[in-house]
Amino acid sequence: MLIMTETRSTCPYCGVGCGVIIQSDGKQITGVRGDPDHPANFGRLCSKGSTLHLTASSVVTGQTRLLQPLQRLQRHGPTQQISWDHALDLAAQRFARTITQHGPDAVGFYISGQLLTEDYYVFNKLVKGLIGTNNIDSNSRLCMSSAVAGYKQALGMDAPPSCYDDIGHADTIFIVGSNTAYAHPILFRRIEDARKTNPALKIIVVDPRKTDTADIADVYLPILPGTDVMLFNGMLHLMLWEGWVDQAFMAAHTSGFDALKTTVRDATPELVAQICGISQADLLQAARLFAGLDTRDDSNFIASSADTTRATGRKPTLSLYCQGLSQSSSGSAKNAALINLHLATGQIGKPGAGPFSLTGQPNAMGGREVGGMANLLSGHRDLGNPVHRREVAALWGVPEVPSQPGKTAVELFQAAADGEIKALWIACTNPAQSMPDQATVRRALERVEFVVVQEAFASTATCAYADLLLPATTWGEKEGTVTNSERRISRVRAAIRPNGEARHDWHIATHFAQRLEALLPPRMPIPETGSRTLFPYTNPESIWNEHRESTRGRDLDITGMSYAMLEQAPQQWPLKAGEQQGQARLYEDAVFPTPDGKARFVSTVYRPVAEPRSARYPFSLTTGRLRDQWHGMSRTGTLGRLFGHASEPVVALHPQDLAKLALQPGELVHVTSKQGSIMLPVQASAEVAVNQAFIAMHWGEEFLSGISATGQRLAGVNALTTSVFCPDSKQPEFKHSAVKILKADLP
Ligand code: SF4
Repeated sequence: MLIMTETRSTCPYCGVGCGVIIQSDGKQITGVRGDPDHPANFGRLCSKGSTLHLTASSVVTGQTRLLQPLQRLQRHGPTQQISWDHALDLAAQRFARTITQHGPDAVGFYISGQLLTEDYYVFNKLVKGLIGTNNIDSNSRLCMSSAVAGYKQALGMDAPPSCYDDIGHADTIFIVGSNTAYAHPILFRRIEDARKTNPALKIIVVDPRKTDTADIADVYLPILPGTDVMLFNGMLHLMLWEGWVDQAFMAAHTSGFDALKTTVRDATPELVAQICGISQADLLQAARLFAGLDTRDDSNFIASSADTTRATGRKPTLSLYCQGLSQSSSGSAKNAALINLHLATGQIGKPGAGPFSLTGQPNAMGGREVGGMANLLSGHRDLGNPVHRREVAALWGVPEVPSQPGKTAVELFQAAADGEIKALWIACTNPAQSMPDQATVRRALERVEFVVVQEAFASTATCAYADLLLPATTWGEKEGTVTNSERRISRVRAAIRPNGEARHDWHIATHFAQRLEALLPPRMPIPETGSRTLFPYTNPESIWNEHRESTRGRDLDITGMSYAMLEQAPQQWPLKAGEQQGQARLYEDAVFPTPDGKARFVSTVYRPVAEPRSARYPFSLTTGRLRDQWHGMSRTGTLGRLFGHASEPVVALHPQDLAKLALQPGELVHVTSKQGSIMLPVQASAEVAVNQAFIAMHWGEEFLSGISATGQRLAGVNALTTSVFCPDSKQPEFKHSAVKILKADLP
């Protein structure tokens, strides 16, 4: 007789981090429902989360899972099944040989914000501690590195200071570059709820595209793509001119404003309106609402004066922002310019007030915490800091962590295309579809001598380039932790045993590392027993305990957060040893983790997009998410009902542009950039402004084929996107490519 069980876990899709209860019969996942006790969602799930059980069973029955280790003797040739021992021995031998012959910087690791924190931790230690290179980066580089840079530059640490409850406390919500309705649906429902309970709430939405999120705005600012810094500087200009800044807060708790003055003085309303393509009246209204001083109608203000923020005479403003700011060649400046507004008005560290970046992936935050990126180290330490490198080396028991910066995502694949990276390990991500400028990425994957792909799904575009395919467990089978956008750490739990021969990501990394240890010269004296390993892990909890010890004394100290505590309830960091509860909101004392304790204004100069529209490429292309699909559709693409909302890839254009190009809806067009070309149907959409185009990011090989400028076969919208990146964060500019659109000549 089958016994039905229920297992508490976390949704594997977006950074909202909703709690789920998985129902299973011991062999299969049979159902899923929202966890009513989880503080991220209180029982609610969106279309993706509520169908997790259906995708979980269809990916197995549909044979889309990778279930055995497979080897290819030649690139793109047939695969043959091998044992785990053979696979891990082969991988260790090939990596050891490459490191011995060409040095540690000849290998690279590209991992994922879908991995659990424990997986991330082992990979990071393996690469920086054992191999001795910093060539490890994550697909989180594509979604949050500009937010990291913005927080660190302005506030001194990488930490969203707000929490989800702040949505209910805010009187103005400033949503920038985020289609929250699609990308973070459960948070969007909280915003809708807040509107019902707080009639004074005003919502400002800034987005070139009039999305479903923009539909609920009181003030909608359809800025031209890439002009956010000019908008924020212009708002600050008006706040200064009108006397809406909080001089007392600025004097006591900030520094660096003088360096910003000239830039802000020059951002006059006339100039801002012209560059951003908005009206001066809307600009003024946005600045006034953001400042929280409603000079037109004080009645609501007085009526809602309930908490400490309002008692100071200023209504609280919460900013929610995402890829529209970060996926940009000036992503860090955009993040910092927005934080400047919060510092100028004292809108931080109070209920309902603060800059709050929303993370795209379920565990991009956890990856930041363990330092699983090319420029970071464990416990929010910086690779560029020699003290931090020594601390991490001591924690790991290795002589040193190399000082040479590692290659970030775009740089890693560029180096591979140039022949510098000879062995590449890719875990839980699909760069052949998701990286910008696919032509370069696919050239890199062809050129690398040995490619390992550690993956749960057999059909990703990247799998076709693997010499060795290692089957990984996935949601429902894995144990560990993830951190959501509000710094809340939740347990991920297994409801069923791994399918096929799939193994956990931490386990694969650990057993590969142990083999590599035996082949490389020792990095520390071997004890007489000869049994010492840097990777003694037997379960995720043993990794977690080492990770939390690495945070002792750091800004994100989680030494008090044991698995036993997380079994009771998810917790927000920091949570030090001896404490019973994490911190919901940071900087309530207005003391910032900078040398002088003050937050820093960053001098943010507006720079246009890297590839402006031109006579040859007259459209601005932006990319983004659909409501019911996730990333490259490995999981959501297996379920028919999730295609009900959008059944095929289209390029959305304004009706005026269709008329100008003499196109009818549904006709096929070529969309072409300097990088490549794709062919797909055109759709008339009033959401998209004139001279702009939108294509969803999800569609891959089966749906949307393309070709590079040199005739190479490509797929998906990243055949078109540019790999130009922000100089500070190295995050690429997915949100703008210049393209031309021509009717397809069909026989
Ligand atoms: Fe999952 Fe995000 Fe939907 Fe929550 S909002 S159920 S985390 S996809």
